[in-house]
Amino acid sequence: EMSAAQSRSAVLEEQIAENPGRFRVLTGDRPTGRLHLGHYFGTLHNRVRLQKLGVEMFVLVADYQVLTDRDVADDLPWHVEELVLDYLAIGVDPHRGTIFTHSAVPALNQLMLPFLSLVSVAELSRNPTVKDEIAHSRQSAVSGLMFTYPVHQAADILFCKSNLVPVGQDQLPHLELTRTIARRFNNRYGDGTAVFPQPEALLSSAPLLLGTDGAKMSKSRGNAITLAASADETARLIRGARTDSERHITYEPATRPEVSSLVLLAALCQKRPPEEVAADIGSAGAGALKKVVIEAVNEYLAPIRSRRAELARDRAHLRRVLAEGNERARAVADVTLAEVREAMGGCR
Ligand code: ATP
Ligand code: MG
Repeated sequence: EMSAAQSRSAVLEEQIAENPGRFRVLTGDRPTGRLHLGHYFGTLHNRVRLQKLGVEMFVLVADYQVLTDRDVADDLPWHVEELVLDYLAIGVDPHRGTIFTHSAVPALNQLMLPFLSLVSVAELSRNPTVKDEIAHSRQSAVSGLMFTYPVHQAADILFCKSNLVPVGQDQLPHLELTRTIARRFNNRYGDGTAVFPQPEALLSSAPLLLGTDGAKMSKSRGNAITLAASADETARLIRGARTDSERHITYEPATRPEVSSLVLLAALCQKRPPEEVAADIGSAGAGALKKVVIEAVNEYLAPIRSRRAELARDRAHLRRVLAEGNERARAVADVTLAEVREAMGGCR
């Protein structure tokens, strides 16, 4: 069964194909560890695809947001570079897009302030994704930053007036809040004209990929297969993945989440329908399924992994890409901030 956001995404795909120039994308990730297949099939793959279609692209390394659920940001410069490395390895083109970090664009923080005034504490506390992240957080106390990061994200999306955000399912509540903030800002200060667009989420065909334990694949849960893993490590992780006691392999995400997520993984890598992958394996069982998944994933990731290893040898290039992106992002943010001040009337 298709969610409202999924059917909307199908309509958006048609509009993008017709007129890619109408869209501007912002997406991002936290530099907290290597990107995994959940990130890849949830959003990264869409970014590369959209960029190739000619959609303008902003990609944010959300370094400030590392502090939402961690006391200190260990080895931050290293993790930032690793994330840029992942982006370049999957095919994000830094010359036709903008890769940048939070900390390099102070205007983002200034934008967050009026946005915070447009949401209620009750709205912030209701956010289901924040609740879930608090539940999984290693910190004993919930910081104000954890509580307000969806507003921070609204500033990230709106500073460049992005109208399209390719994300996984967990981001839908945040995007709804961004739309609310844009609407309220326009109503309160817009004087008849819209300062900000109301951005839309673009879901992929895998908006919630599960990890080897059957829960959402996640950096923080130790159930992820990273893009940078070796072929052997990938095989070991998939061999250890949870399945169920039924021998016959089928694709039934609602009732057989573990087996179905393995089937889906192979299907995404082989660009085939998951039902067909499941039918091919049938009564050969979970061992045969895992073998297929291991081969499919390793084959799919091989060129990405070798490109990554190649790019990793030139760290100066990674830093150059970021410096150029930061410069562009700062210029865009300054223009928007000036516009916001103007709209708010003398608030300097
Ligand atoms: P994680 O959530 O893995 O612990 P993170 O919090 O650092 O790592 P996010 O910022 O939550 O990473 O994720 C970046 C993007 O990847 C978001 O658009 C998110 O929706 C998407 N994403 C993350 N995990 C998955 C998944 N398992 N399936 C689909 N999309 C995912
Ligand atoms: Mg997350």
